[in-house]
Amino acid sequence: MPRILDGKWVRDQIVMELRPRIERLRSRGRAPGLAVILAGNDPASEIYVRNKVRTCEELGIFSEKLTPAATSTTAELLDLVDGLNRRPDIDGILVQMPLPPQIDSRRVLHAIAPDKDVDGFHPVSVGHLVANSPGPVACTPAGVMEILRRYEIPVAGRKAVVAGRSDIVGKPMAMLLLHANATVTICHSRTADLAAECRAGDIVVAAIGRPALLRGNFFKPGAVVIDVGINRLTTAEQAEAAGRGAEFARKGTAMVGDVHPLELEHVAAYTPVPGGVGPLTIAMLMSNTVKLAEAHAA
Ligand code: NDP
Repeated sequence: MPRILDGKWVRDQIVMELRPRIERLRSRGRAPGLAVILAGNDPASEIYVRNKVRTCEELGIFSEKLTPAATSTTAELLDLVDGLNRRPDIDGILVQMPLPPQIDSRRVLHAIAPDKDVDGFHPVSVGHLVANSPGPVACTPAGVMEILRRYEIPVAGRKAVVAGRSDIVGKPMAMLLLHANATVTICHSRTADLAAECRAGDIVVAAIGRPALLRGNFFKPGAVVIDVGINRLTTAEQAEAAGRGAEFARKGTAMVGDVHPLELEHVAAYTPVPGGVGPLTIAMLMSNTVKLAEAHAA
């Protein structure tokens, strides 16, 4: 029977460890501060931001939500970021993606002061990551490393395959596994034989955003499978093919990762969707906020 890697268990440990650090910062004069910019009316973004703000409240982190109009210009967003860069009560600035189409997202992300880059997307942070020097690391891949570490899954010397090469997940994930001394293969939409590449992996991280694309035969017996994907299924046929027919019939909607959930009997361990990698992303955002606040307080 494969071991199920419980993201909530890992998240709870991380949050528990953050509490005294937040308390220390508060007792020394100021709570850590996170600013979240939410432009536009994307319903999924609104839910993500609500969850982030709620977690801040639970932990005693000061948070401020800024909601510029969906019609805002790049210049207006740059002004907003500039103001937050100057505020001493703000340690981290998060710009919720996607921004409305008229806004130059890259310019906005690059305008965040590197010492407030809580998401780790700024080129300075990316440079630190590549050089393996300290700095904020993208939350989702950092969360995956916490799962591996806290479940004591060895990484050094093992073959790790990362499916997906986005700036947010795939690339930083590959870099973190490399620094943990795995031998890393990165796959993408032009990879000739994704199944064969994945089958070589002792650890396979799926981050492609394709419902249940990775089938049982993509994994060798004993592999560790980390499923980052979050895909909402909107038709009964789609849900049936992704092993979520029963859930869809019950709720009229269903969620699945990039890995087929019913074909994992032969692997050593896997993260479920939901409840695997998902809970870690906000925990690592809180962790990054606290680290930045500690650096500012030093
Ligand atoms: P992107 O769409 O930015 O990147 C997807 C990557 O997958 C690209 O590199 C793309 O290749 C590759 N890809 C797409 N189709 C295939 C295919 N058929 N075979 C091989 N590679 C393929 O997605 P993200 O990285 O932002 O997110 C990936 C998934 O993770 C999504 O489901 C997203 O919802 C989820 N996610 C979950 C989070 C969490 O908290 N658990 C947080 C962030 C994301 P190419 O570069 O060639 O186009």
